[in-house]
Amino acid sequence: MAETRRTLIAGNWKMNRLRAEAESLVRGLAEHLRAGAPARCEVLVCPPATLLFALAEALADAGIALGGQDCHAEAAGAHTGDLSAAMLADAGCGYVIVGHSERRADHGAGDAPVRAKAEAARAAGLIPIVCIGETAAQRDAGRAVAVVEGQLDHSLPEGATADTVVIAYEPIWAIGTGRTPTANDIAEVHAAIRARLGAGGAGGVRILYGGSVKPDNATEILALADVDGALVGGASLSADDFWAICRASP
Ligand code: PEP
Repeated sequence: MAETRRTLIAGNWKMNRLRAEAESLVRGLAEHLRAGAPARCEVLVCPPATLLFALAEALADAGIALGGQDCHAEAAGAHTGDLSAAMLADAGCGYVIVGHSERRADHGAGDAPVRAKAEAARAAGLIPIVCIGETAAQRDAGRAVAVVEGQLDHSLPEGATADTVVIAYEPIWAIGTGRTPTANDIAEVHAAIRARLGAGGAGGVRILYGGSVKPDNATEILALADVDGALVGGASLSADDFWAICRASP
């Protein structure tokens, strides 16, 4: 990994944890950060929106960044149940995940809406983490790289740079399943994304891998060329496991 791309370990809590549990999880992480050697990576957690204000201060004190799990493409308006990027920034967020496959599936968001959300995030001063990844059928058909390149072309905001955007390659079939691609397969897709970004002038953008990252596979995955961190779901709900993944950063 190039020195300029600082490893990012991002925890996506999804629709998990109530306030007391969340506060205990953050305390656990903060204790690890205090007690352990300094983390070589940037650490980010993306809790449910109801917890953002409650956790912002403790996370900031611990040096952990805060992110949202999604945002609306519009700045404000009649969109019941949605959150604007500015609301997330107001709650203390520096990042927001957009285009997670669960949001794409549950809310029918295709590449164009994902790009619009990423642009809204940028306009509000947030760094969007743009998620892309193939289904099992697409991989079995030998189309993983082509699918991911297509999503990249259509989901990435205009003028993306290393400082303004993060990409997460998350094979859908690896999310929450305990299955991961081989190291070669991850490296192949990340290299293809890097090549595509380079052609568009956004070569230094960090590319995270996501999909069943655990303490026991993190070292191998994070050491791969062009893997600049991880987007972690299930394992981010345990302070010990999430910290072990952070410690695996090269
Ligand atoms: C995710 O939700 O982005 C994810 C990668 O989940 P998990 O780590 O549980 O596979």
